[in-house]
Amino acid sequence: MKILIIGSGGREHTLAWKAAQSDLVTEVIAAPGNVGISREPKCRLANVSAENIPALKDLALSEKVDLVIVGPEAPLVAGITDTFREAGLRVFGPTARAAALEGSKVFTKRLMAKYNIPSADFEVFDTFDAAESYIKGRTGSTVVKADGLAAGKGVFVCRDREEALSALSAIMKDKIFGSAGDLVIVEDCLQGEEASFIAFTDGRHVLPLASSQDHKAIFDGDSGPNTGGMGAYSPAPVVTREIHDLIMNQIMIPTVQAMDKEGIPYMGFLYAGVMIDNGQPKVLEFNARMGDPEAQPLLFRMKSDMIPLMVAALEGTLDRQTIEWLPEDAVCVVMASGGYPGSYEKGKVITGIEAADSLDGVKVFHAGTANGPNGFVTAGGRVLGVTARAAGISVAIEKAYEAVAKICWDGVHYRKDIGKKALNR
Ligand code: ATP
Repeated sequence: MKILIIGSGGREHTLAWKAAQSDLVTEVIAAPGNVGISREPKCRLANVSAENIPALKDLALSEKVDLVIVGPEAPLVAGITDTFREAGLRVFGPTARAAALEGSKVFTKRLMAKYNIPSADFEVFDTFDAAESYIKGRTGSTVVKADGLAAGKGVFVCRDREEALSALSAIMKDKIFGSAGDLVIVEDCLQGEEASFIAFTDGRHVLPLASSQDHKAIFDGDSGPNTGGMGAYSPAPVVTREIHDLIMNQIMIPTVQAMDKEGIPYMGFLYAGVMIDNGQPKVLEFNARMGDPEAQPLLFRMKSDMIPLMVAALEGTLDRQTIEWLPEDAVCVVMASGGYPGSYEKGKVITGIEAADSLDGVKVFHAGTANGPNGFVTAGGRVLGVTARAAGISVAIEKAYEAVAKICWDGVHYRKDIGKKALNR
């Protein structure tokens, strides 16, 4: 099979690396991909942007690819699956209408309310004045969310009324997210520990991956602004067997069934960001794709071939599939450019990637690198996902940081506490 992977980050490097290991796969093309992918066996890059759906379609048709795997949410929400399907291509990923589970928080909150899927209590507003008077009548912490995609910045967890009002003003008056902020959600603030729960679904059946946990904040101790994700590990001990079953029975299966009932069947990776408090999981958000950086530890410890699972999702036969996992824990530490998630410089010479990669049980996934005159240079905010696998979370953490210590560039920043929550349990 010839595979086309859309996207250019660490998640896409991981997907390409995993796809290339399949005996079913002869070639992996990544558009636009990254330098890390270009160095993997069976893999090559095509210089087409992940946003340019017509050009991607032409590429897929001319290359006669057998399966398309879409990494990021933007092309899914923009309808890449619909366009590709019309052209007779096989795409693993939801249609635009189904990807509204990520693309419209209002759609998702209303769906969850209708089908009794546990989530924070909320109200939706389409005018500033109505939202303002509602917030003025509230006390305590409040979460204000823009409806549409906002590159991970559309959620404001506010300690008090003043913070909530200024978030509202930024979204609805200053229009910092444009039309993505035409509707806002004001919801209760949930307490507890977060986890990522990702599954394959064919529209009717749900095949869960192992649990994982992301670290969204830029600094240790979950402080500072949110990023695309500074590290992840799998499995996440906060997701006990009981919590796993609750997430499946109260969230994942009901959501997939609800989408089907609404006439919007959902096929692809379904990602629930959940808050677990007092043994009860509640949905914070859905994503219509694999997580980044959750993909790195998850796929690094997935023993099964990923490709038959995707084919089964397309054929509606996921109920006949199982996933085997390596018994080890896996940890991914994201190494980022100094300044990220704000502005940062590019082109810094990176040393030590080979030395880190050659450690047993370690894989360095690229996210924002480029080829410079003397080796790799930085080319993005999140630069590398240094991923390690070992028996027990503490050894896996040690190994990941041993690999991280071998890599350096001017201004490098990474969190020192990835996996600490698992250690504390
Ligand atoms: P992403 O880049 O992950 O798609 P997003 O803009 O869709 O981000 P969410 O993931 O919905 O935003 O929320 C971001 C973070 O805000 C969550 O991980 C969680 O920490 C926090 N959050 C969201 N909703 C709530 C809530 N009701 N109570 C407490 N925290 C919340």
